[in-house]
Amino acid sequence: MQTFRRRMSIDEMIERMRITAVLRTYYDLQETRISVENRVNTREFIFCETCGIMYPKPKRGRALIRWDGKTCLICGEKTIHIIEIEPNPILEETYKDLLKREKSLIPVMYEQIKDHPLWFNYLAHIQGIGVVLGTFLITYLHPARFRTVSSMWKYCGLHVEFYCPNCKFVYQFGKPGIHERCPKCGTLLIVRAPKRKKGEKVEWNPFARAMCWRIGETFAKTGKFYKALYYEFKQRIKAKKPDITPKHLREDAKRRVVKVFLAHYWEYGREILGLPTRRPYPIIKGLDSYIPPVLDKKNPDEVKTDERMKALLMKHGISMNEYLKLWDWFREMEIKVKPAK
Ligand SMILES: [Zn+2]
Ligand SMILES: [Zn+2]
Repeated sequence: MQTFRRRMSIDEMIERMRITAVLRTYYDLQETRISVENRVNTREFIFCETCGIMYPKPKRGRALIRWDGKTCLICGEKTIHIIEIEPNPILEETYKDLLKREKSLIPVMYEQIKDHPLWFNYLAHIQGIGVVLGTFLITYLHPARFRTVSSMWKYCGLHVEFYCPNCKFVYQFGKPGIHERCPKCGTLLIVRAPKRKKGEKVEWNPFARAMCWRIGETFAKTGKFYKALYYEFKQRIKAKKPDITPKHLREDAKRRVVKVFLAHYWEYGREILGLPTRRPYPIIKGLDSYIPPVLDKKNPDEVKTDERMKALLMKHGISMNEYLKLWDWFREMEIKVKPAK
């Protein structure tokens, strides 16, 4: 029998614990650094004598548009003073310290992953995947930990639920793509990421989910192949659901791109690790057939001689020429996508 899941050795487990602690610390520091950063600048307040209270001066949005700059936003009297509050210089210092400390963790992570076969054979060749995301992928989403890519998706909370905005009801269909309309009222269902309900234990790992969201963001901004795929998905979703809100459209497209990427990482990663891959992973919600992995920092000539890629394509019955068309496609897309930015 083939082993789909490999046990870790004690050394590997210790190594993994050590490095994940650094990764989590990196994001904890980042969160604090961002909060402090927001307090560094001089803040402006409005003090109203009539109301006897002080509140932040509007900086943007509707409040700023309707404000004449002279009257109180609450009572409308001209009894206001603009008050500037200079932050304590320690905040600026703290911010700089935190940023420096945060950045200092990146080379530590790099030391840990640079000789890892998943890094130098695959992740380092994907546009948008840097040291931090790479560390996450190698530790939390090590392909040997998951029998199937579906189980990896589920661990990351990337599966979907179906919401009827008319009935305000959530459906959990087993097979996405079959149900597009509400069985009760016929309204087009909103496909969305499952929401965390109070008091209920979640099935996924919240940290992994947050990290996948970051991967999606990075691809949408700085990816190559996956950015092209993101735009392609957006177009196709929009064509199918013209009424979709821009936010839903972005989130849906991003989630799909991340799923495809994880499928690639899982499949190619298992090739690297010498682990068996089961049949092709499920087709994603009728949007596409099987998309083979693309190591988009490489060039097509390098890929032609990639033994792992050849083995994968053979498994799926795809010829190298057919595969290279995918490269042509995203390189063309890249040209189209770029000037829009
Ligand atoms: Zn007032
Ligand atoms: Zn309904």
